[in-house]
Amino acid sequence: MSRFSHVTRVALALSLFLGAACGGGHRRAGAPRNQEGAVATEPFPTAPETTVASGPQPSVEEGLPAAPPSGVGGQGLPPVVRSIVTDDPVVFVTIDDGWDKDPTVLPFLADHHIAVTAFLIGRVAARTAPYWDTLLAQGGVVEDHTETHPTLAGHPLGFQRTEICSPLDDYQRLFGRRPTLFRPPYGSLDHTTVVAARDCGLSDVVLWDATVSRGKLRRATPGPLRRGDVILLHWGPGLAGDLKALVAVLDSSGFQTALLEDYLRPGAAPAPPPVGSEATTAPPRSA
Ligand SMILES: [Zn+2]
Repeated sequence: MSRFSHVTRVALALSLFLGAACGGGHRRAGAPRNQEGAVATEPFPTAPETTVASGPQPSVEEGLPAAPPSGVGGQGLPPVVRSIVTDDPVVFVTIDDGWDKDPTVLPFLADHHIAVTAFLIGRVAARTAPYWDTLLAQGGVVEDHTETHPTLAGHPLGFQRTEICSPLDDYQRLFGRRPTLFRPPYGSLDHTTVVAARDCGLSDVVLWDATVSRGKLRRATPGPLRRGDVILLHWGPGLAGDLKALVAVLDSSGFQTALLEDYLRPGAAPAPPPVGSEATTAPPRSA
């Protein structure tokens, strides 16, 4: 029995901006339920000028997520996902970049049964593969976060395709699995980014709708953690503390962690908007 039968992927592709939740048609559970996923609560993150990951960089992805700009995505393109609609009491932990490799973090993740999708920078992961081998051995998954961590929006297709595609062969060789998910650095993306992700064979572009940074959980829509939240953390010097804060939130919420890869099925084409859906003209919710 596939667990996807009761899981609906929420996609923030163009059709979502028209008000329709996209996912495999068989996985849509009635009316779109990812209300916060369609809300642009803040301006799009301001991207820094840094384009080459030549050493540890200060995190600039701590800000809350924003919806992608209008005009991103469309039929036949990877959905842009910010949270997952599911009846399961789960949230999704994603940890980005890979600069800092605190030896206490991996045992902590294992001890607390935290499922992790690591969106790693290609050049960083290739240099420090043994650490990630351990993460994979305890159930983590490595996904694509570009080769050098540039901002992508506004760059031509060739540039974006090179950045997004380049880590894939390395990760297949290093980790025995080809990534299926892509997260744009700084949440910076445009329509070309989604086209490039498709060209690279990736199934979903994954943003986030919550962060844990400096020991605090923040959500795009203020309030407690909700099932299906995609939570962003970073492999930085504060990760151990952030994970302790996350565990406290998980304990109080009763949610478990799950892998995005178990809820986002590679190759599933976005479904067309439901015919006659009122959601196609519904304004974004502000709550
Ligand atoms: Zn990053």
